[in-house]
Formats: sequence, C-alpha cells, structure tokens
Amino acid sequence: MEIPAHGRPWDEIRVELVNRGSGDANWREGKTAVYVFNAGPELTQVQKEAYSLYMSENGLGPMAFPSLAQMEREVIQMALSILNGPDGATGAMTSGGTDSITMAMKAARDFARAEKGHAEQGNVVLPFSAHPAFDKAAHLMDLEIRRIPLKDDGSYQADPERMNVACDDRTIMLVGSAPNFPHGIIDPIKALGKVAASKDIWLHTDACVGGYFAPFARMNGVPVPPFDFGVPAVRSISADLHKYGYAAKGASTVLFRSEEFYDHMPFSNKEWNGAPMKTPTLAGTRPGGAISAAWAVMNFLGIDGYCEKQGLVCQTRERVAEGLKKLGFEILGDPLLGLIAFRHPEEDNLAIYGEMYRKGWFTSMTTQPPSLHLMLSPKHAEVVDEYLTHLKESLATVASGRQGNQITPRYS
Ligand SMILES: *Cc1c(COP(=O)(O)O)cnc(C)c1O
Repeated sequence: MEIPAHGRPWDEIRVELVNRGSGDANWREGKTAVYVFNAGPELTQVQKEAYSLYMSENGLGPMAFPSLAQMEREVIQMALSILNGPDGATGAMTSGGTDSITMAMKAARDFARAEKGHAEQGNVVLPFSAHPAFDKAAHLMDLEIRRIPLKDDGSYQADPERMNVACDDRTIMLVGSAPNFPHGIIDPIKALGKVAASKDIWLHTDACVGGYFAPFARMNGVPVPPFDFGVPAVRSISADLHKYGYAAKGASTVLFRSEEFYDHMPFSNKEWNGAPMKTPTLAGTRPGGAISAAWAVMNFLGIDGYCEKQGLVCQTRERVAEGLKKLGFEILGDPLLGLIAFRHPEEDNLAIYGEMYRKGWFTSMTTQPPSLHLMLSPKHAEVVDEYLTHLKESLATVASGRQGNQITPRYS
C-alpha cells in the first residue's frame, strides 16, 4: 500500500477500521483469555475519555505539563500504598512490563557497578517460569541469564535453594514472580528474600500481572503470601497497570524501595546541541493519555472497585476449576489469583486447545507440561458455563480420535 495521493473522508476510514477488526479474536464477548482485560463497557468509556483528554500531551515534559507529572507521582503513590512501600519508596510509570523490567535491571546493574565495584559481565538468577522480558533486557545490556529449574514438588514455584547455588559474585539480581505468567503461581518471595539478604543481592519481584491484583485478593481474604516491599530484601517491583490495573494499554509501574536504588535508573545527557535531557525510563516521548487514563481508572475504581472486580475474577477461577475437575482435568499447582493452567492427564492437550480455538476461544497455553491456560477478566464470569460446555465437547472429540490438527498459539 502507498500513502494515498488524496486524503479520504474520515467516515469511510472509520468504517474500514471497524470492519478490519471483524476477523480478530472476539474479546468483547469474553472469548479471549489472554492479551485483553475486559472489565466492561463502563470502564472502557473511562479509559477512552481520560486517554483522549491528554492524548496530545507528552510526559517527557514535566515543566510543560505539570498535570501529567502530578498524575504520575500520584499513580506511583497509589501503587506504593497497596504494595507496602516504605517511607522514601519511589518509582516511575513506563510503557509496559517489559519496559519496567528492563529499567529495574538497568538500575540493579548500575547499582552493582557503582556500589559493589562490578566490572565484569553481570548475571541475573531467575526461576525457569520468569517472563522472557528478562532475557530481552539481558540481551540488550549484555548480561547473562541463569534460568533455574522450579521445585520438584509439583508446586510450580521457584526453588530458592537451587537459585542460591546459582548465585555468584557477579549476580546483580535475583528474581521471583508474583505470580508467574505460565502457571499463575506466586513464588516464595520470602525465602528468596533470605537468599538475597544473605548475599546482599538485589531482589526484584515481577508483579507485572499480580501487582494490581494480589493486594486486593488479600483484602478479600485470599491467603496471598508476602511478595511486595513487606519482604525487606525486595528492592524493586514491576507492576502493570494495563493488566489487572484495568488501565489503557501502554501503562506500567516500576517501583523502588528507596531513592538510592531508584537513582540508578534515569539516564541523563548534556553532550549534544539540544537542551539537556534526563529521562527516567526507556522512552523519550511518553504518551500523556496512558498516564491520564491510568490515573483516572484508579480513581474511578478505588479500593472497593478493585476488590469487587478481583473478587469476581477469583470466583470465576474457582468455578472454572470446579468444572475442570469434573471433566477430569488437573490444575497445575495451586493458583490463587486470576490465572490458571490445566491439563488432561490422558488426552492430547494441544489437540483440545485446537478444538477450543475452532469454537472461537482464544487463550494461551504452556509447554512444560503441555497445558491450557486462562488469564481471566471480570467479563468471564458471564461465559464460564459456555466455556466448560465447549471444553467437554472438545474433550469428547479428541478422546474419540476425531480431532483436527493441533494448534499452538504463537506470540508473533
Ligand atoms: C505481562 C508480563 C510481563 C511483560 O509485560 P508487557 O506489558 O507485556 O511487556 C512480565 N512479567 C509477567 C509476569 C507478565 O505477566
């Protein structure tokens, strides 16, 4: 396609945009359980209006836009208030989880260089279930990644003893997830904290998918183990607003226990002809809409709004789990939040996935072991029964040997 010689009317373009989405995954009806967090039309309206109010403004310019600077500060304060941030804790908004993780690793690496005299290539010790964003950041910064097998006890949790053994004097960061993405399981952050404290290593909690869920689940009475700044060795946390924070996409937070740790994150440069430039995160230009929409959604929901939504998601997970067990599926580990992975011990799980895909469900999966994966949203409360009915049919199809091809979702 070439840029058209003459512009076209917006009405016509708009229709085409809407039509182009007709072949996409049907998230509006609750048929996806990955990529989209569907908390209903009212919340979508808040996101849209709040985003468009600051769509042209740029978070790169706090002097020009003190409004955005204040909203960002308040988002960070609200985040710290639910994640046991101590006095002096601070942070920044980023474009997403990958950005938050990259920046936390950059801060940890530069801290190790400045405070511990690290000169050689550093390494990062993480559980096998940690997100590939760590590998990407390590690739960018020429760090070594050490992925350590999970515990052998079927808990799908990080193994602090094995991770302890994997640390050496070049380790710049230890990582635990709360929860991990593949299984939705919270790692034993307290035990990882003991390892980190004994070796004076930076501990990062990747709460990208749980940071705005687990605190509210805990308020609802779910026995969420310690994972945030309440564990003294945790120096940084990544928590995505554009997941269970229900903010518009392009919004995450990276949080630090103290200014001392935070100060290794921003990058400043005076050596050019333009104005001196200091940026806290990877981005230059920062979309004002992502900041204003996150700020607005947090204020719109409040603690009770989040508690209600996350309570509904937990109930939905329990209803799904009950139905799965009746159909003979096994749940991997003991998930407490909004994610669940499950497998049938006798049948081909990827073939079942394929049957569900053909029925219009778009979800994720795991490879070790092969299992189906759901990341649940409030909307899914309305479709649990339909999902389970289709799953029963898909299982029967696969068990009878009538299934079509296996399908594996790819992230590319
Ligand atoms: C989603 C996720 C990430 C990465 O976040 P993006 O916003 O997709 O870049 C990192 N860690 C975990 C546990 C996640 O669920």
